[in-house]
Order: sequence, then C-alpha cells, then structure tokens
Amino acid sequence: MNNNTTDLEKKLQALLLAEQDNFLQGKVADYIPALANVKPELMGISVATIDGQFFGAGDYQHPFSIQSISKVFGLVMAMNRIGDSIWQRVRMEPSGQPFNSIVQLEWEKGIPRNPVINAGALLVSDVLTSHFSASKLAFLTFVRKLANNEKIHIDNQVYLSELKHGNLNAALAYLMKSFGNIEAEIPDVLSHYFTQCSISMSCQQLATSLLFLANKGVDPRTQKSICTIRDAHKVNAILSTSGMYDQSGEFAFSVGLPAKSGVGGGIIAIVPGYGVICAWSPPLNSYGNSVVGMNLMAAITEELGLSIYH
Ligand code: GLU
Repeated sequence: MNNNTTDLEKKLQALLLAEQDNFLQGKVADYIPALANVKPELMGISVATIDGQFFGAGDYQHPFSIQSISKVFGLVMAMNRIGDSIWQRVRMEPSGQPFNSIVQLEWEKGIPRNPVINAGALLVSDVLTSHFSASKLAFLTFVRKLANNEKIHIDNQVYLSELKHGNLNAALAYLMKSFGNIEAEIPDVLSHYFTQCSISMSCQQLATSLLFLANKGVDPRTQKSICTIRDAHKVNAILSTSGMYDQSGEFAFSVGLPAKSGVGGGIIAIVPGYGVICAWSPPLNSYGNSVVGMNLMAAITEELGLSIYH
C-alpha cells in the first residue's frame, strides 16, 4: 500500500482522467425523477484511512443523493437498538433478485433476504420508526456525528419525489405488514425510509463517516465505539455478499471488498484495517451500479492491492 499523499492523489486523478468519457455508457436514474437533475459528467473519488489520512480527486466534495448507501447507517442503528433479535425478521442471504423485487418476499412470507435490498431496508426503517421517538432526526444526527459535519441535510426535492413515486416500496412494506413483520404504520415507515435515502453527502463525508467499519466498530478519530466488533463484522459480511445489488458476485471478482452502492451513483467500499473508499458518478449500469464508480473501484483496489481475498 502506498500512503504517500501526493502519489495517491496523483493516482486518483489519473484514474478519473482515464474514466472521463465512460459516464456516457450509463444512464442516470430517473425512476425517482428528482434524481435525474444531476450533471452526469460529475465524478469524484476519495480514500480515508484509519490512520487519519485523506485523499480526494475530482468532485469528491460535491454532495449527492446517498440513496441505498443510507442502508448501512440504518442497519448499524437498528442493531445497536435491538441487537441480534433483528435477525429473526430479516435474513443475511444474497437475494439473487433486483433490489426492489417483490416476488421473493411473498414466497418467503414477508421475511426479506437481507437488510440492503429495499424490503430489508424498509424492515430496518420499521425498527427505527418503532424504537426512536423521532427516528428521522435520530438518523440525521447519527450521520452528522459520524461525518463530523452539522451541515449534512435532507434533499427535500428528492424526498418528495421518492414519496410521489414510491408505490413499489409501499407495496413491499404493505406485503411485509400483511405477514406481521412490520410494527409501525406504513406511511411512517416509508417517510423514514425516503428521508434517509434523500440525505446528500459527498465522497469525502461518506468515506470518513464509515471509517468505524474498517476499524472493528471503533471510530479511529475519536476512539469511540460506534458498534460492536461482531456487528461491524456482520455489516461487512452482508456488504460483501449483497451490497452491490445483483452484481455483488461480479464486484467480488473484480474488486473484492465489502461495498454498498446507491442509485445516486455513489459506491462505498470498506477495506478492513485500512480505510474506506468512496467513488461517485451518477450514470448507472443495468444493475443500478455506477458505471464509472465500478471501474474506479476495480482500478484503485488493484493499484493498491486492497482486495480482502488476496
Ligand atoms: N430510494 C431508492 C429506492 O427505494 C433507493 C434505491 C437504491 O439506491 O438502491 O428505490
């Protein structure tokens, strides 16, 4: 691993340069119309290390819609709140289905395959809605603390757009409720879920806020425990098998790190014992993963030899 600042920053810049036209191969998500209001050519990457270094290139300080990356924060909060009992309501297996698929949920009696597909994240949102008096505020506060930035906010335009076009997520939630696996009222669960998905953060903020997952649950900057070592292990395990939608196997082949992507075009990857990488470029491939983000992740992990499978 090369921790020399200028060297690594130069490498990141070179990787972005090599990718500068490849955003044209993807398509910005528009099933949530407000997400389409982004410049497709923006791209950034950052690397934060547990020993306190930070490297960034391109638009790494530009906030974007974190979307499904919020599922990582939500899961940690829910595990902190109700412990292992959550695993009776959601499983830890890859789904082999698109992230918003409903078919499996009926066969499997309202128990989502994992917490990072939409059904699972709605289940987690139910836990948060039911166990916090003001779950949206608690979520935002948690993220702001981790990122050490009070300015992180919810993009209200994205929130309203998700609410308006969220029928499939509503269907998932109602189906789970019909099986008795959702406690709170569905509109409250949806409102929480869409709120957390609508948070805007930059590559820099995401990489630094997730450092605890690369450091056995302890925030290396403050030495505070954010979750137990066992829970950090579980989150990383789930991200390894299911974090990249139905392309998680291919991501394990080409990158080899626990990771989570979102339809806003962000991807975070955890490198246990080293740090966190975040890449962002809005246009997506057919699985919902950022085209350029995937390429950047493969290139940087290869360059630095970071795969956990080596
Ligand atoms: N809010 C999005 C949805 O529920 C999140 C999807 C994603 O980023 O995977 O469809």
